[in-house]
Amino acid sequence: MRFDRAGRPFERAEGLLHAAVHGGIELSKNVLVTGAAGFIGSHTVEALLARGDEVIAIDNLDPYYDVAQKRANLAEIEVAADGRRYSFIEGDIRDEKLIRRIFSERKLDVVIHLAAMAGVRASIEQPQLYFDVNMGGTLNLLEAARTCGLGHFVFASTSSVYGNSVRLPFHEDMPADRQLSPYAVTKRAGELLGHTYHHLYGQNFTSLRLFTVYGPRNRPDMMAFKLLHSIFSGQELPLYGGGNMYRDWTYVADTVSGILAAADRPLGYETFNLGRGESVLLLEFVRTMEELVGRKARLVAMPKLDLDAAATQADVGKARQLLGYAPKVSIMDGLFHCWRWYRRAVLGVEEPIIRLSRDGDPSLRLPQ
Ligand code: NAD
Repeated sequence: MRFDRAGRPFERAEGLLHAAVHGGIELSKNVLVTGAAGFIGSHTVEALLARGDEVIAIDNLDPYYDVAQKRANLAEIEVAADGRRYSFIEGDIRDEKLIRRIFSERKLDVVIHLAAMAGVRASIEQPQLYFDVNMGGTLNLLEAARTCGLGHFVFASTSSVYGNSVRLPFHEDMPADRQLSPYAVTKRAGELLGHTYHHLYGQNFTSLRLFTVYGPRNRPDMMAFKLLHSIFSGQELPLYGGGNMYRDWTYVADTVSGILAAADRPLGYETFNLGRGESVLLLEFVRTMEELVGRKARLVAMPKLDLDAAATQADVGKARQLLGYAPKVSIMDGLFHCWRWYRRAVLGVEEPIIRLSRDGDPSLRLPQ
């Protein structure tokens, strides 16, 4: 039997976690976050530290995009951690020895597995690398979890597993066996591996199907970043399908709230959509940013790519019900935060932006 740090049998600790979630006491956890230097990973680590969890972070600082951006994310985590309850390991999730050592030396309660090669388009150029990291790395972590009797495994999957489903919104029970890219296949495979480890070894495994996440620290290959880059550098921005695509854009703080809620609730094997629950036209997303910034991007209409789904929209009913997930941030507010970050972190402008107040989350409004 496994015991938590307070000496309680693990099952009891799980029960207490459940109580904490439903308004009882708070318990801090030992959490391994993979992909911690990345966009979603760095926000996840900060949110865990803010609520008092202990975080072991791993990332190999893969050069898919500028490593300086990942180092800057890590530097911001260091500041947030303030020397407490946080350690970073520069390492590869495919490294069997390293992963075994981490699992055996640290008493982990939960793994939040976000490390991946994450570019849908890039996965066509390098399918082998995507299979090695996203499937081999995930298998390596699951094997270590099995041998160490890990309590709970949370996995970042994607809305891309639904392929070109014509029915909106996507529900977790819909078929997910017609992916459009090697990346999406690797993510679906990760979910299936998780199911097998649950079936064979009773591993708690929650797969989170993330829908187009955007926000500060956004990956440079993603729309919000590319859009700002085009606006400020004048570089052309290809608009596939002429911008006539619908996406369920989800602000990163909402995604992270869902990730933490999932980490708190071992539920056997479950799959959840984490989106905002609304489908917004790509062109409208672009126009909203242009309106905020007061400048235009250099858009170039291009034909739609075969690997892009025409539309995505999450049914978040199951996540609402079982995780208490409640996305809050409007596109307008989310894009404002993106712009504010880009201005400071990329353009190096420190003065605050004067923004006319709009109705939204009051905490996001700037002082008048
Ligand atoms: P990201 O690229 O910013 O973060 C992934 C991190 O994983 C990077 O820092 C990278 O260095 C690290 N990594 C890559 N290979 C590794 C390896 N072999 N060992 C250790 N670390 C490795 O991407 P992100 O947007 O933050 O995505 C995080 C997770 O969420 C990914 O699993 C991604 O597939 C998933 N996801 C993201 C989105 C989105 O819209 N951003 C949507 C759906 C799913």
